[in-house]
Amino acid sequence: MESSEAAATVLIVEDEPSIADILRITLTFHGYTVHTAASGRLAVEAARRHRPDLVLLDVMLPDGNGWEVCRTLRAERETIGDLAVIFVTARDAPRDVVGGLALGGDDYITKPFGVDEVLARVQAVLRRTRRRMPTPDPVLRHGDLEMNEATYSVRRGGEPVELTPTEYNLLRQLLRNAGRIVTKEQLLQDVWSYDFEVESTVLETYISYLRRKLDRLGPPLIETRRGVGYGLRAVAA
Ligand code: CA
Repeated sequence: MESSEAAATVLIVEDEPSIADILRITLTFHGYTVHTAASGRLAVEAARRHRPDLVLLDVMLPDGNGWEVCRTLRAERETIGDLAVIFVTARDAPRDVVGGLALGGDDYITKPFGVDEVLARVQAVLRRTRRRMPTPDPVLRHGDLEMNEATYSVRRGGEPVELTPTEYNLLRQLLRNAGRIVTKEQLLQDVWSYDFEVESTVLETYISYLRRKLDRLGPPLIETRRGVGYGLRAVAA
């Protein structure tokens, strides 16, 4: 697989848990960063938060339909970005499919599908749309901290910081939400894809690893909001 594809973020919008699971497991296994949402409302929220490269969008959702979600995502292009959309539909009547593509879909898949087919479509659409999109600045910055998402490298005050993939993903979520406290539940879900019941000691452990590596190079960076979560401390402009 090409590295540019391996780094892509995919949002799966699907209200049938078994289908969502199959898609999530398949795409995660092939190196994609995957988020899931089980309704149209949650899909829009997740897209705002994670700015995915591609959305696998079920057409029949409990609170509406995929076409509406697609229209909302397109309308918020300024903030969410120019993402690709593949509709997943059981309604394979040509009229619907043409309607969906006209509403801004890049492709469609009809249920039931094979995971190989989904994977092939995702790869093809990303190849096509990524060529079309302007390359965004791959560097996230916060004070003297820099994360280059194209090279997976982190520097603080110009000094390289070696992170494990989990440490990197955790820091990336904090950087993407710089200026806000991110709840423990959210971090566990975003970084470990855990459900809420999971104990959060794993999170505390990784926060301490990050602090050890980052605070060596400057003042303490990660703030703890007791009982709530973590955030990056405000930095002087
Ligand atoms: Ca559905």
